[in-house]
Amino acid sequence: MKTGIEVKDPITTGILDRLMDQPAPFLEVLHAIQDHHGYLSEPALRLVAERFKIPISELYGTVTFYHFFQLEPKPLPDIRICENSACCLHDLDAISKEVVDADLGVAHSGQIEKISCPGRCDMPVPILIGEKFFHHARAGAIDNMTAATMPLPPETGLEECIFRDIRDGIGSLEGARAHGAWQSPKLAASDPQEVLSQLKESGLTGRGGAGFPTGIKWEAVRNESRGPKYIVCNADESEVGCFKDRLLMAHSPHAMLEGMACAGLVTGAEIGIVYLRWEYPEILESLQVAIDEATEAGLLGEDACGTGRPFRIVIRRGAGAYICGEETSLLNSLEGKHPFPREKPPFPTTHGLFDLPTVVNNVETFCAVPAILEKGGAWFNGLGLGDHAGTRVFSVSGDISRPGNYEVPIGTSLRQLLETHAGGTPDGKTIQGVTMAGISGGFVGAVDLDVALDPASLTDLGAMLGAGGIIVHDETRCMIQAARESMHFLAQESCGKCFPCRIGTVRVTELLDELIAHSSGSSEIRSHPLEELADLEDVLGETSACGLGLAAPFITRTMKKYWPDVVQSYIDGQRATKPAKGDSIE
Ligand code: SF4
Repeated sequence: MKTGIEVKDPITTGILDRLMDQPAPFLEVLHAIQDHHGYLSEPALRLVAERFKIPISELYGTVTFYHFFQLEPKPLPDIRICENSACCLHDLDAISKEVVDADLGVAHSGQIEKISCPGRCDMPVPILIGEKFFHHARAGAIDNMTAATMPLPPETGLEECIFRDIRDGIGSLEGARAHGAWQSPKLAASDPQEVLSQLKESGLTGRGGAGFPTGIKWEAVRNESRGPKYIVCNADESEVGCFKDRLLMAHSPHAMLEGMACAGLVTGAEIGIVYLRWEYPEILESLQVAIDEATEAGLLGEDACGTGRPFRIVIRRGAGAYICGEETSLLNSLEGKHPFPREKPPFPTTHGLFDLPTVVNNVETFCAVPAILEKGGAWFNGLGLGDHAGTRVFSVSGDISRPGNYEVPIGTSLRQLLETHAGGTPDGKTIQGVTMAGISGGFVGAVDLDVALDPASLTDLGAMLGAGGIIVHDETRCMIQAARESMHFLAQESCGKCFPCRIGTVRVTELLDELIAHSSGSSEIRSHPLEELADLEDVLGETSACGLGLAAPFITRTMKKYWPDVVQSYIDGQRATKPAKGDSIE
């Protein structure tokens, strides 16, 4: 029997009727309602709560957690611009409504609002108008890019795995097949043990930051007797300074889909889900085209690649929440729960999506699989330098001549990546320091630019390699301000589940704000700021429940390590607007 509310909102009822049988339909339902009505009304949410059996209060808490769901029929801000670290280096204040209007030839009303990093640090400054992104707002002419026109990775002359054919038009199925795509699923179906053995030999580890061996993860899910099983592609790269997955999905979507299909056929999963960040609308379109092409060609579907086994892939679009890049938050998000990180163990390999065995890998990891299975695990392993296995893609932005994504052997030095491949700083300035892991891995100062780009070497410096984002700061930059921008982002994106992180990241941001204000003589500072900072770092590092809070101390600890004189000058009330050369040396 229909309720009174259902009668009043037949559109929502129709959406629910249409989508409820789909895999993990929660986000899809909310997006469909918002797309139709322009917002999520109370009657609509009550219907959603009823169907998903979620208490309405809990559903409100969940929906309001996301940046891009809205509960009121208010018009979207006309112009929204990124406010985070890489874009902060590009004079955000100079981007006025008049500048945007002149470039686009349209008169916008309203104010400019700031948004968190939308993963376009190589084309600063991105602006969001409605639900469409434009780029290069500081370069004089704003570009409107599609997936097909996104910049390709710069040439390095190095042997590549993930980028090896990416400049040859492999975005379409025809182009991908001309380069041998979609061969590996047959092997995955006929000899899954061989696939696991090649993956183990390759040394491929998760490229989202955690670095767990891929072959062992797939084997664990294969060995589980419970089902159904799931393959989830984490395409929610939300870390400031990371934009490699956007490039891979734009120009090599079939490698990712093929890698997911292999995972499904090896583990016995029949459904793959791509969790795509909201901020990649052009990828939403192009990736769906790639999935449709593959399905029409019989590569996905009931008889995937002619193996007699089913495997299909659907996209679920996020709604703007950094924490959903954490794999268990992502799974909760798909299930319609509040996207808090889960306690681990149990791990997703045994208790993943809907508590069932699940492979969660990121885009780069899946993209590496077809080449590894074609050329062999030993080949990929041998691409690394010394004892390191394989290659990694690094996103480089900030004060750098050739911003972009670079695939280099693991173990390459940071200096070689930045100076040889990415061209060093523009105008011949010296590098003062870089952020690592996007921003949450802390800083590496100029004195340590020869560090090898591998997880252990970065850990030895008190930093973290993470997902491979690097933002370069030249000698003119204020590293206290840079630390403040990084901590501000973490404070904004803390999910709030545990108070050491919820309060600690805010307090560290406030403390850095106080230092900056004090250095310009505009306010007093409390006594012993460094002691308070050290106390906060210890609490964050020891008691936070997930990687966001645990990583936060990297930022201020490495700031103090590399620029102690600058920190002291701020405490003394003397702003170092242009740090002296010695400031960057410990
Ligand atoms: Fe949430 Fe921060 Fe706790 Fe992680 S550490 S669960 S982001 S509050």
